Amino acid sequence: METAARTAPAAVIVAIDGPAGTGKSSTSKAVAAKLGLGYLDTGAQYRAITWWMLNNGIDVDDAIAVADAAAKPVIVSGTDPAAPTITVDGLDAAGPIRTQEVTAAVSAVSAVPEVRALITDLQRSIAAEAPEGIVVEGRDIGITVLPDADLKIFLTASPEARAARRSGELKGKEAQATDLAATREALIKRDAADSGRKTSPLAKADDAVEVDTTELTLEQVIECVVTLIEGAGAEKAGRVAR
Ligand code: C5P
Repeated sequence: METAARTAPAAVIVAIDGPAGTGKSSTSKAVAAKLGLGYLDTGAQYRAITWWMLNNGIDVDDAIAVADAAAKPVIVSGTDPAAPTITVDGLDAAGPIRTQEVTAAVSAVSAVPEVRALITDLQRSIAAEAPEGIVVEGRDIGITVLPDADLKIFLTASPEARAARRSGELKGKEAQATDLAATREALIKRDAADSGRKTSPLAKADDAVEVDTTELTLEQVIECVVTLIEGAGAEKAGRVAR
């Protein structure tokens, strides 16, 4: 991955939201590396707490049990975009949080308000401790976690394009053969749960820039987002200098 080939003129806080399969993670990591910014994958944090619940015999559909246990796991995220890390109670969770078991359970766990409150606090403290600036990707970053972000981007893509991308990723990573129609169904179900929950649903902030990635290559999306961040950084540098 390219490292800091271009520079954001000021330490910018960037929120990138959108549903699964829009290229959020690949784009966020790449632009952060290009611009010398930190990177936080908030989906990985919700997956990590879900993995802990499953490992500890908590029924993920029992919101009270999930809420009661929410503060127990210690989740630590490393924000280097070239090598992002996630640990739970000191254990490397990067692999296990990507299993289908976790993916199927994460929307139920992430809908529990106590879980969201704890993870939101963690996300805000990580962003506050990133003096170089940071790209934070998720579902509710622009509206709830960092409403004062310097730039908010909302990535979208057609369900077909998202299912095709996610299916390609899974085939590379998992032994289970993943069929496109099943991936599409699972994505749509997860989007509906994430968009329909009461607390901090997946939604576009009014002041977010929407980028439809359906017809774009990853490189084109990266270039578009880098340009938007450079613009926001220049504007921030101007404000700071005035
Ligand atoms: O981004 P990823 O697909 O890994 O996210 C996994 C899940 O974590 C989402 O389906 C959603 O339930 C939850 N999530 C969330 N808020 C965020 C990021 C992810 O609720 N900011």
